[in-house]
Amino acid sequence: MAFSDDDLLPISALQHLVYCPRQCALIHVERLWAENQFTAEGRVLHERAHENKTRKQGSQRIARGVLLRSLELGLFGQADIVEFHPAPSGDQAFPVEYKRGRPKSHDADRIQLCAQALCLEEMIGREVPAGALFYGKTRRRVDVLFDSALRGRTLDAIRQLRQLIDHRQTPPARYDKARCGRCSLRRQCMPEVLEGSESATRYLSRSIAAILHEGPADDW
Ligand code: SF4
Repeated sequence: MAFSDDDLLPISALQHLVYCPRQCALIHVERLWAENQFTAEGRVLHERAHENKTRKQGSQRIARGVLLRSLELGLFGQADIVEFHPAPSGDQAFPVEYKRGRPKSHDADRIQLCAQALCLEEMIGREVPAGALFYGKTRRRVDVLFDSALRGRTLDAIRQLRQLIDHRQTPPARYDKARCGRCSLRRQCMPEVLEGSESATRYLSRSIAAILHEGPADDW
């Protein structure tokens, strides 16, 4: 089934979903967003990556801020960089995504990059076998092979994202010290307080209403 332009979901939401499904729902369903040091640094890195739209470097063409879309997968987004490496059968697209920090143990960055590659494949009609993640802290590129395992995990994540957005249900908070400590939505999510409850927005509305009309809520 092909999606229409109105139904497309942002590729960046996949990264949020893999990091924490609740964070994804808070941002893309409840429309909460908060910037912290990590997201601010990441944003600056992306803005720099999008300066100078296209240039040649030797025999290689480098395009920046490339708009992406897949009607087949129902995704849209923007690649920081797409390099076009000369190959006998024609230029080979190679997406590169800038990330602050270091390589991570979870799959969020690789899945986001793989989704970009899947969009590129639909747009240019050619296989995109590999790309790279550039990490600001280590100043190094890590090559990522888009093998069948990563493609499978990426397609699973796309299905889960579609389900989460369609059902508009925010998963309950699950406190994890490392993950929540780096989350820009920690204040709004309140994972230590709300573990197991559904919607931060509903909880906040209830608490504010209780304070305004009846004094402080009992469960504080
Ligand atoms: S604070 Fe933790 S549980 Fe809440 S959205 Fe962030 S990562 Fe998820």
